[in-house]
Amino acid sequence: MYDSIVVGAGIWGCSVARLLADRGKRVLVLERRSAVGGNCRSDIDPSTGIEVHLHGSHIFHTSDEKVWRFIRRFTDFNCYRHQVMAKHRDRCYFLPLGLPLINAFFNVNLSPRELPGFLAKKRDSSIGAPGNFEEQALALAGPELYEAFLKNYTAKQWNRDPKNLPADLLRRLPLRATYDTGYFADPHQGIPAAGYQKVFEAMLDSPRIDVKLNTDFTIAELSDVPTYYSGAPDRLFEYRFGALPWRSLRFETGREALTDFQGNSVINYCDPDIPYTRIHEFKRRL
Ligand SMILES: Cc1cc2nc3c(=O)[nH]c(=O)nc-3n(C[C@H](O)[C@H](O)[C@H](O)COP(=O)(O)OP(=O)(O)OC[C@H]3O[C@@H](n4cnc5c(N)ncnc54)[C@H](O)[C@@H]3O)c2cc1C
Repeated sequence: MYDSIVVGAGIWGCSVARLLADRGKRVLVLERRSAVGGNCRSDIDPSTGIEVHLHGSHIFHTSDEKVWRFIRRFTDFNCYRHQVMAKHRDRCYFLPLGLPLINAFFNVNLSPRELPGFLAKKRDSSIGAPGNFEEQALALAGPELYEAFLKNYTAKQWNRDPKNLPADLLRRLPLRATYDTGYFADPHQGIPAAGYQKVFEAMLDSPRIDVKLNTDFTIAELSDVPTYYSGAPDRLFEYRFGALPWRSLRFETGREALTDFQGNSVINYCDPDIPYTRIHEFKRRL
């Protein structure tokens, strides 16, 4: 009865389902949670109207015109531009690494022209081929920036010593020789104007798409019907080939009766004595 099965109703599964439906296919979407959206799922808080991103702040950003045309069929975007601050020893710095952070952290006043030479002197040039995350970070950023912004934050995020993480995780360090504090550099950015859930509802709103929630697909159900799977691969194979080292994720939510809590939508906490990685303040969606 169906031409295709899509497992998972995150942004990928919803997009695939809609693209297949647009091509005339009858699609069944299976989602093990009780709602669509995956990691991008959000709820509008009824008492304040604030959109809460249940799995952490999600900013839509792309440089791909085709992707942008596709998503704009389902939503308008607000003009939100993401900025992230990193807190180290009670001081906040703008990410990513650029003139604002480096000038403030080293108490210097570098120009764009001076930054590459300054950083070259900071880097650990004794490391030939970095064998792990720590060596890669020391080779790219040097010990001071690594200790302050990367080492402990990464250890908290992965729940592992960076010496035991692959160098690939930090293949390149986004470095800006400007005062631009926008986190993403893509020309198209924003938050869906009516919230993420409306986007997924609109994507799945096709007579050719059926959605079954609270339905956990297992590999035993694989049939001749082409199936598009967007869940965890290790779980799909029932861990027969081992468990993959996923990034640790745990969310706690709270309410503060304040007009402003932290002055920015996301602050990253880089020090080891703070037992979490980030605080998101959801009302800051312009
Ligand atoms: C804290 C955080 C912040 C992020 N911020 C951004 C950001 O600002 N911008 C950005 O572009 N990206 C961001 N990302 C990355 C982004 O979340 C992912 O790239 C994106 O959500 C992946 O979408 P997906 O549909 O592939 O997977 P998911 O969103 O994980 O969706 C997969 C879905 O499949 C379902 N599923 C899994 N297994 C099964 C099964 N066996 N049967 C049925 N259903 C199943 C799951 O329940 C889930 O709903 C962030 C990620 C995190 C963790």
